[in-house]
Amino acid sequence: MKSVIEKIRRLYDRYVVSETFKFKYTLTIYAITCVHVLLVFFFWFFHVIPMIILNIGSVAAYLYCIHVIKYDYEQKMINTFYITYLEIIIHSFAATLCIGWRFGFPQYIIGLIPFGYYICVTLIDNNRKYFIATMFGLGAAVAFTGCRVLASFIDSFYYLDVSPMWEMVIYIFNSICNFFLLFMFTLIFVIDIQVATNKLHNQNIILDNMASTDPMTGLYNRRSMHMFLEHAVSKEEQFSLIMCDIDNFKRVNDTYGHDFGDIVIKDIAQIIQQEVKDFGHVCRWGGEEILILCNGKLDKALPIAEGIRQNVEKHSFTNNVISIHCTLTLGIATHRENGTIDETIKHADERLYYGKQNGKNRVVSAYDTA
Ligand code: GH3
Ligand code: MG
Ligand code: MG
Repeated sequence: MKSVIEKIRRLYDRYVVSETFKFKYTLTIYAITCVHVLLVFFFWFFHVIPMIILNIGSVAAYLYCIHVIKYDYEQKMINTFYITYLEIIIHSFAATLCIGWRFGFPQYIIGLIPFGYYICVTLIDNNRKYFIATMFGLGAAVAFTGCRVLASFIDSFYYLDVSPMWEMVIYIFNSICNFFLLFMFTLIFVIDIQVATNKLHNQNIILDNMASTDPMTGLYNRRSMHMFLEHAVSKEEQFSLIMCDIDNFKRVNDTYGHDFGDIVIKDIAQIIQQEVKDFGHVCRWGGEEILILCNGKLDKALPIAEGIRQNVEKHSFTNNVISIHCTLTLGIATHRENGTIDETIKHADERLYYGKQNGKNRVVSAYDTA
């Protein structure tokens, strides 16, 4: 049982990964690739050869990542995160060594923390994913601090001859890109949570419906009826129970087949629901037994029960080939103060039995058996 649930969960997870995640992830990697192409030209302009080579390597690595995501190599997809992670950290150290701290390149390390959580939680399929993501986050924090410390102790290999204004422009550009990434990941997180919550909510409604109703008739099932009964007793509401059973139903099954028997049960369920309307709840209690919780005492339940009996008697049950008439016997019991639910059900059942013994197709209330 547990493994079946696990399989279903995995199928569901896979759906999330393939449909929405892949699109967003590809878009992000495309954006990062474009930034690195721009950086090749930036460092070309200032003749910083190691950074040109590094950025060409980065573009190649990101093109490989896009290839992996595009062709859906699910096992390899996590590698694209490791590549991105390493690339940004190596890039930040290299930028610090080559041109120093002042242009703000190492800031991109900060974005690795939400990025790491997002990718690890989505792609890693075991409980250690949170731990792994946290380790990557801590690694990013250490790398960021490392870059800062390195910049304090070592003079950069290259001196970029730019005015303080341009230095600030480059710094702010890097900050804006980094903040944009942070905003984007926060937004993606929030939207993903919202989508998942909505999906769960809708599935809960479907599951609730499945758990509380009988699929064949659409009536409430026994479990729901117990809930309604317990609620009515706890609120000290007055109610009556009507237990219904189709007369000679075995004969219907034996003569016309089980499928036709099903038609009869479904039609009777509809007739009862139409008669009860909002005055109570109707449940399929057993095979061809239907239990009605009716608000109020006998004076309310009796006309409803009699209406049901008459409508069933009049109804023509048909599958367009066969057409028959059926009848119903009903037993009513009003819930007594201090009485238990089981006692009231038992009383309704006893009156139903009494009706069966005394000619069927009748409503038996407390008065008859008293
Ligand atoms: P009585 O008048 O005394 O109630 O006689 P009966 O023949 O109706 O006897 P009983 O109520 O014991 O019959 C129950 C029958 O209902 C037995 C079972 O085969 C049939 N049944 C139970 N559930 C279903 C169902 O979902 N579909 C069909 N077609 N038959 C069902
Ligand atoms: Mg029965
Ligand atoms: Mg019966």
